[in-house]
Amino acid sequence: MRVILIGPPGVGKGTQAALLGGRKGVPSLSSGEIFRREIEAQTDLGRMAQRYISHGELVPNGVTIEMMAKRLRDPEIRRSGFILDGFPRTVRQADSLQEILADLGLPLQRVYSLYAPDELIVSRLSGRMGCTKCGAIYHSLSKPSTREGYCDVCNSPIVVRTDDQPDTIRERLRIFREETAPVIEFYEELGLTRVIDASRDAEEVYKDILSELE
Ligand SMILES: [Zn+2]
Repeated sequence: MRVILIGPPGVGKGTQAALLGGRKGVPSLSSGEIFRREIEAQTDLGRMAQRYISHGELVPNGVTIEMMAKRLRDPEIRRSGFILDGFPRTVRQADSLQEILADLGLPLQRVYSLYAPDELIVSRLSGRMGCTKCGAIYHSLSKPSTREGYCDVCNSPIVVRTDDQPDTIRERLRIFREETAPVIEFYEELGLTRVIDASRDAEEVYKDILSELE
């Protein structure tokens, strides 16, 4: 399996990557995972990425692409395939990825564009609350704490993260669309994009992707 999952924050990419990967034994690769791996191994690339991250800056495109290329050249990945989760984010990255995969003789099979209406994503994300002490995560609708406003684990107050305030979520969605629409178009021109309705249950979305892929 060699696929890409593209979609806004809160659309359920991570869940789909885990479901697909779990069933087929295919690892999901995200830039976050790749950064952590290289930083833990203290490679040259990892140290470089760490310098940017510790200064609160974005890791430059070139460094990200090089790390991704290194991971994709891994013999294990060449055998198992991969699920790219949230990468590429720009047309430039998509372009480089095409070159890397062509060199490796591992063409992409599909690019799944997961779609859900903004209001659904806002309601999914904006109900999220985290414990101020132990970090346990709750959701006002799908996973409320037993005592409203307090953590079940440690009894500390639970709060909505700044990132999960409705206005912040709408802004993140706007930025995502602006940045990523050209990437989806890029793959559409190559005939690889399939749009998946991700407003349904994760299990239904998963079945859809699986049957489309097989
Ligand atoms: Zn807690």
